[in-house]
Amino acid sequence: MLENLQPQAGDKILALMAAYRADPRDTKIDLGVGVYKDATGHTPIMRAIKSAEHRLWEEQDTKTYVGLAGDPEFSAAMARLVLGDGTNLDQVAAAATPGGTGAIRQGFELIRHANPDATVWISNPTWPNHPSILSYLGIPTKEYRYFDAQTRGTDIEGMLADLTGAKAGDVVLLHGCCHNPTGANLTAPEWQRVIDLMQDHGLIPFIDIAYQGFGDGLEEDAAATRTVVQQMPQTLIAASCSKNFGIYRERTGVLMAISQDAAVKKTAQDTLAFLNRQNFSFPPDHGARLVTMILQDETLRAEWASELEEVRLNMLGLRQQLADEMKRLTNSDRFDFIATHRGMFSRIGATPEQVEKLRQDHGIYMVGDSRVNIAGLSASTVPVLARALVEAGV
Ligand code: PMP
Repeated sequence: MLENLQPQAGDKILALMAAYRADPRDTKIDLGVGVYKDATGHTPIMRAIKSAEHRLWEEQDTKTYVGLAGDPEFSAAMARLVLGDGTNLDQVAAAATPGGTGAIRQGFELIRHANPDATVWISNPTWPNHPSILSYLGIPTKEYRYFDAQTRGTDIEGMLADLTGAKAGDVVLLHGCCHNPTGANLTAPEWQRVIDLMQDHGLIPFIDIAYQGFGDGLEEDAAATRTVVQQMPQTLIAASCSKNFGIYRERTGVLMAISQDAAVKKTAQDTLAFLNRQNFSFPPDHGARLVTMILQDETLRAEWASELEEVRLNMLGLRQQLADEMKRLTNSDRFDFIATHRGMFSRIGATPEQVEKLRQDHGIYMVGDSRVNIAGLSASTVPVLARALVEAGV
């Protein structure tokens, strides 16, 4: 049996990480994998997480199973974080999942279960796991235009024109904030135009929100998601705690299915538990419990929010520094988009040849589509990157 297996194409980002590690140059810079790093290149454990873990170690007296949908307190805390304090929890069916990826996977399974004819519309480009999981599950998928390669901003007219081709019941996958891989985000009026179109065509939004707090702030980054939920009859949301709580390996995420109808909510809740059972039974609890403790405790929550704000401001500062440096070196405002983009990534618009040249000549590692992890920079490496970009002819 096993001899029938076909070789798998390796994950490009993980291959890039391996190449970076093997590079002997001590001037090398890793702008590849999407993990937050501080100025020393370290991915720290957040202070509030350490405190919560300490308390958990002292207080937790059993490791028995929780529930198929995870701890309802976690779901409620996450619903309030993403949807706002005043959220009517009667409208929110939710289940804990292994990370945001698990939430996306379970969301796709839910779509296939509820409406096998639905096409899922994804942005071009998007996080590669989206099309990969959709194709693995055999779910019909189409792309909508999203990124304007010229301005490095969004292509809202192209996006709306493409989504006009969607049929009623189709699902539109949207990044709630901090678009990965481009860093380009819709403005509030543009979100409204997308909502109007989804309403007119009977489409269902599925929001992937993996970077709340990394862009304009915790509340600001959730604003578009909240507007969608308020105006659409039904919304799916996959939220990840990997980045904003810094608990990548704990695999902590939540899938929410929101509807206005109590009977629909009950069936959706039962289906989320059923789908968890089919895939892995009980979702991981450790990270979810830490997140719940932090969100429910005023002191821990304040400490977490302030550290997250430090992280956000650090990335914004690096963006501004890089944009300024590029302006100085090129005598043009062509690279101002770096300061306008939000989140951990920017697609800077280098060709694959230029990306390769940056790696060979300068030991600067970025993903082949020229996605740069801003958090991989520091005040001292920004000028190095800027000079290399100019030299590579970007
Ligand atoms: N969605 C997007 C757009 C992401 O970039 C990520 C993280 N790379 C995720 C979801 C989920 O990540 P995780 O499974 O680690 O929570």
